[in-house]
Amino acid sequence: MAVTAKFINGLKEIGGTFVEIETGAAKCVFDFGYAKGGLLDRDIPLRPEFAASDLASFGVLPRTDGVYDESNAKILNVLSYEAFKAQKECFVLVSHLHIDHMGGLGRLHPEIPVYMTEDSLTLYRRLVENDDVQGAAHENCIGVKPGETFRVGDIEVLPLETDHDVKGACGFLIKTQGKTICYTGDYRFHGFHRELTEAFVQAAAKETVDLLITESTMVSHGDVDMLSLCAPEAGKRTEENLQQELGERAKASTGLLLVDFYPRNVERVHRLIETMSRHGRKLVLNDMTCDYVHAFYPEDPLYVYAETMADAQRPAAWNRVTRADILAQPGQYVLQLDHESLYEALSFRAVATAFLHFDGPPFGDYDPAYRKMLALLEACGIPFERLGVSGHAEPYYLRYLIDTIQPRILVPLHSFRPEQVQSNKVGKRILPEEGEIIRLL
Ligand SMILES: [Zn+2]
Ligand SMILES: [Zn+2]
Repeated sequence: MAVTAKFINGLKEIGGTFVEIETGAAKCVFDFGYAKGGLLDRDIPLRPEFAASDLASFGVLPRTDGVYDESNAKILNVLSYEAFKAQKECFVLVSHLHIDHMGGLGRLHPEIPVYMTEDSLTLYRRLVENDDVQGAAHENCIGVKPGETFRVGDIEVLPLETDHDVKGACGFLIKTQGKTICYTGDYRFHGFHRELTEAFVQAAAKETVDLLITESTMVSHGDVDMLSLCAPEAGKRTEENLQQELGERAKASTGLLLVDFYPRNVERVHRLIETMSRHGRKLVLNDMTCDYVHAFYPEDPLYVYAETMADAQRPAAWNRVTRADILAQPGQYVLQLDHESLYEALSFRAVATAFLHFDGPPFGDYDPAYRKMLALLEACGIPFERLGVSGHAEPYYLRYLIDTIQPRILVPLHSFRPEQVQSNKVGKRILPEEGEIIRLL
């Protein structure tokens, strides 16, 4: 059997990428998040016993052989993991732990092997411990070292770290039957570790890549003529700039700063602890964020907001900060207020000088919760400011990656407008329809 790549979902949207690489002996599926997220309503709970098939019926998860348990597979009229395994190996790759790439893990058959980097696995275990996953924890997750090849059936996989706004992100070089497939996951060149993305590009460029599957988020909005780009856009905010700007805000204000960010971007939080400490402030975090930081940076001084954690559960090394402590000396603190604890803002309306939002949920004004957050802060009289840094490569660097790798076939996805992705250095570009199969000959 020839090597095939089947493009199931996540082709003209941001997230929910589902691709299968299949040979006569094995099948590899990546990623396993949620597609068509607009079909989900957090106020309508899933039916636990039918969750996998309900989600796959909508196209939120893939309707495919070899990944679900017997009862869900039967409803979907596909082969269960056990039935498929009798014919060939089946496994899942997860490039990183954003919900659009891993939200469906709890719906898989519990025995299917799921490979992710060791850092991703460390983070996944903390997400599970903090009830920060959708559905059950997946039991058979395997942490792999970036740069070390592993093999399942006749498929060889080399995970390589990339820079993205979450700990543990990677892309994959997949080799089988003399063919090489490169899947980028999500990546950028303006984070703390652009050298990782650069090394990923160079490693892929050394190969003859038959199929390059790249994210292309940043060509989603507005018209982009990729072929005419000759330099990166000037003045874009980087992770380093963000730290500087936040430091300046801390210096300029005598009151309390409230902040909302994405806790899985652990390195940003780690750096922020340091930045704020340089400006004489303590960053006060909720219990979950403290746990994520501690898992990767055990030396960091941690200040946990006492309203989020009972004293009996607090590790001795974590300092306790109460509402009264902050009200007494607001200029000495920066307080993380995630969406669930937004009403805490009401207690600080007299002392908070700003609410700084940098990529925490709710992520943008397409989400009704975002508009409600703005309305609440306005009612409190607390000025809102957005200081986001994208996790995705801008179009110039997207073309740089493609031009450098020079694949025989290019498939851009993870974008509302993948048709805007252009390069003169590829054999051909394919924009597959949902369910389309490409045979690598
Ligand atoms: Zn994504
Ligand atoms: Zn991502």
